[in-house]
Amino acid sequence: MAVSLRIAEQHGRGFRHRSMCSLCLTTHPGSGVSLMTGRRAGKAGRNGDSVGVYLCSDLGCSLYVRGLRKPGAGGRLDETLTVEQQVDRLTGKLSAFLDRLVGDPTLVVPTPQDGSHQHD
Ligand SMILES: [Zn+2]
Repeated sequence: MAVSLRIAEQHGRGFRHRSMCSLCLTTHPGSGVSLMTGRRAGKAGRNGDSVGVYLCSDLGCSLYVRGLRKPGAGGRLDETLTVEQQVDRLTGKLSAFLDRLVGDPTLVVPTPQDGSHQHD
């Protein structure tokens, strides 16, 4: 699958408050959560269409869900779901995001990473 993700620029003061990762629902202070955006594949991407998701900046979502990593001054929701259910939800959300990113799989085009082959 050819997707490229980048961390969006964080503008000034907006990130002082706590933010919650939309995948693992861990709350982090400051810049602990980043808006990760990906250019959509195919024509939509060439038109500048991108999708974004809020993710733990350290990408430790699965570690937080499993309790293997503790957020600093943040915290996690006190959930009634089991760890397994939370992991399922995390992976479900992630694949939903990738689905939005990729859209119609037949439109997926390889993204040149090294600039050695550019078309357009
Ligand atoms: Zn997370």
